[in-house]
Amino acid sequence: MKALAVFPSARETRLVDHPQPVIQRPTDVKLRILEAGICGTDREIASFEYGMPPADSPYLIIGHEALGEVTELGNEVTGFTPGDLAVLTVRRPCPHERCTPCRHRRQDFCITGDFTERGIKGIHGYMTEFVVDDEQYVVKVPRELRDVAVLVEPLTVAEKAAEQVRVLTQRLPGDLKNDPSNLNAVVLGAGPIGLLGAMKLLRGGFNTWVYSRGDADSPSVKIVTAIGAQFISAAEYQPTDLAKIVGNISLMYEATGVASVFFGALSVLGVNGIFMSTGVPAMGEPIAIDARRIMRNMVLDNHVICGTVNAGRASFEEAVDDLGWFMQSFPEAVRALITSRSTLDDARDSVLTPGGVKSVITIG
Ligand code: BGC
Repeated sequence: MKALAVFPSARETRLVDHPQPVIQRPTDVKLRILEAGICGTDREIASFEYGMPPADSPYLIIGHEALGEVTELGNEVTGFTPGDLAVLTVRRPCPHERCTPCRHRRQDFCITGDFTERGIKGIHGYMTEFVVDDEQYVVKVPRELRDVAVLVEPLTVAEKAAEQVRVLTQRLPGDLKNDPSNLNAVVLGAGPIGLLGAMKLLRGGFNTWVYSRGDADSPSVKIVTAIGAQFISAAEYQPTDLAKIVGNISLMYEATGVASVFFGALSVLGVNGIFMSTGVPAMGEPIAIDARRIMRNMVLDNHVICGTVNAGRASFEEAVDDLGWFMQSFPEAVRALITSRSTLDDARDSVLTPGGVKSVITIG
């Protein structure tokens, strides 16, 4: 079968002919991949800055955002029938007995670093025609979401962030625990992670603002206004201006991966604020930050800074539910997140050329 693969030692990215996987265990599910999304991580891997092939392979099949259709089942699979639509989780547990998170199926909190990630680290991914995996890593999706379900995996980033926010707000007394309706949230960045995060915050009842360098006519800013969030232009305002515009900022959701944006925004986080960070910056020279102000505010305003990576199965299930709600509430905005589709034959160019909001490869 056809697959898009990265050869790190030869510094090459190209289509390969890879053996089709087969059901091996009674709990395995085989899927025909219908669509795979492209994200910044794929670009980094295809530029040989990140990623690792399986131990016995010179190449890594990339892709970790996928929608598939179930074609075949191991004889102990109970949760699926052929024809079901499904998405796949990304991270697989490490083998160590002492890793409590992995032993509790929360490999997104793995403590050994020996986890693997499909299409990223040590196991082949989803930019190919067929995939086999254990049913515990496969999550069913209703047919109505066929057109947009490839967005489930990027949405899980926001879902895990929301899970962390729910835990962290338990420190507050009374209504503040569960009622976000008077709280301001600022999303930094209007890429797919930022926009899906804004949709999630709106469903959660936050007054939601999105800070982005796009202009009012860009596809991403049109989505911001279509969903009922408020847009703040990074061309006009610095991150340190955000509190002047918004008022007290209870939650910041960082999705730019830009260190100067992160620290500028952090320096104006509000009282009892949570700063949730999802973006991974490129490495480079140290930058100047207003460290004293950040440190003072952090203590005097009870700040929490929380990083979040990957997501557990519950976040995938919640993402499927939220995507259904988004499609009821603002279907055109959800569809507008997918700005281009290409075929597997053109996938290499699509991965290497950024542009639009979310690019998707149509496979099956
Ligand atoms: C993926 C995560 C993964 C992370 C780090 C992200 O692009 O969505 O599942 O854990 O990269 O490899």
